[in-house]
Amino acid sequence: MLHTKQKEKSERICSNPKCKELGVYPAPKSRDNLREYLYFCINCVRDFNKSWNYFEGLNEHELEVEIRKSVTWDRPSWKFGTKNLNYDFEKAFNTFENQKIQKNKNNLDIKLEAAFKILGLNSDSDLQEVKTKYKHLAKRWHPDVQNDNKSKINKDKFINITNAYKIILESFTKQVKT
Ligand SMILES: [Zn+2]
Repeated sequence: MLHTKQKEKSERICSNPKCKELGVYPAPKSRDNLREYLYFCINCVRDFNKSWNYFEGLNEHELEVEIRKSVTWDRPSWKFGTKNLNYDFEKAFNTFENQKIQKNKNNLDIKLEAAFKILGLNSDSDLQEVKTKYKHLAKRWHPDVQNDNKSKINKDKFINITNAYKIILESFTKQVKT
């Protein structure tokens, strides 16, 4: 009886239908069926391990359970916590960071656009145009040239123009730097 069993085992052919080698390396049939095995030769079991994604089809909770298992008593035989998974975390993190940068950039764009509007310029104006326009407006709205009877609004106007000019100048300096 024992003799027959051993003979059976030794004559098991690789589960890869294209392969004629002896199937001596067990591999689980599926994630849900870890106790039943397919038997492969050394080359085919290597390919199988590479292509078999243990975590495929798991929902978030199931994945967490598997992760817990893998870091505690149930040491997995498959590679885990190395390149692939870390890479995905890193990628997700980078995406998040990029979104934050994009959001800040959008806020800046809105501010910059408003600044151009205050100076009465198109947002594609070049630095020379901006400088010329600012000089012109500053002369016109400068508190020193305003008559005493002019209202506070004119002073505010000058401040607004100057602030807008600063914002636009900063944007040009940044463009030069990058
Ligand atoms: Zn094989």
